[in-house]
Amino acid sequence: MKGRFAPSPTGYIHLGNVWIALLSYVSTRQQKGQYVVRMEDIDIQRSKRDLGEALLDDLEWLGFEWDEGPRVGGPEATYWQSERQTYYGDVLENLASEKLIYPCFCNRTRLHSIASAPHVGEVVHRYDGHCRHLEDKLIKEFMMSKEPSLRLAVNSCDIDFVDRWQGFQHIHLEGELDDYVLRRGDGMYAYNLAVVLDDIAMGITEVIRGDDLLETTGQQIYLYRTLQTSFKSKNIQLPSYGHAPLLIDS
Ligand code: GLU
Ligand code: ZN
Repeated sequence: MKGRFAPSPTGYIHLGNVWIALLSYVSTRQQKGQYVVRMEDIDIQRSKRDLGEALLDDLEWLGFEWDEGPRVGGPEATYWQSERQTYYGDVLENLASEKLIYPCFCNRTRLHSIASAPHVGEVVHRYDGHCRHLEDKLIKEFMMSKEPSLRLAVNSCDIDFVDRWQGFQHIHLEGELDDYVLRRGDGMYAYNLAVVLDDIAMGITEVIRGDDLLETTGQQIYLYRTLQTSFKSKNIQLPSYGHAPLLIDS
């Protein structure tokens, strides 16, 4: 098996990071698995290389040892998401050629919160399917004045999985309302896209993270399924999920 710790270097390390790193690390080592560290610095406005390096210094100081990741390398090097954008772009091109994604020209304020993982208190916006059925002619016309975001065309479906801490989960995705953004209009790749593509590329079989990300999991499983059918790849294996309670104050 393979576990991972995938922090976003938007600040110095905090106890919540250490908590999740420790849980994923202990679980991986107990199973004699491989441990991957990946820097989720895809949100280039909020992430800083220096903070990423400081985070790695602190993980080393705490005694974590990773088998793949920054400073140690590995088959997927680089392990900094900001340097893996060609890969994300290639996958989006494949999805576009199968008409599984579509351009959305809607106002930026609606798209505001998608590039980073939505943590507690952040609103997750639903869409209204507005751009899903635009005619090619209109798309060409709009393209002249605006760079669109790219949305996944979701087919309504139900997703069930069992979470290590949260138990049985049932999620319903509704086509159009849940068509979510994979790349923003400003070119930034969405957290949901990068996290799934990297977990696939790095062969991650166990995802342990904070329970504030539980609600993104349905979207991510949907993307796994889409990639499994569109690339007809049996190698794309869904990981097991564990969403651990966050450390909070009194
Ligand atoms: N990079 C994300 C965060 O720091 C975590 C991603 C994940 O573990 O799936 O919130
Ligand atoms: Zn739209």
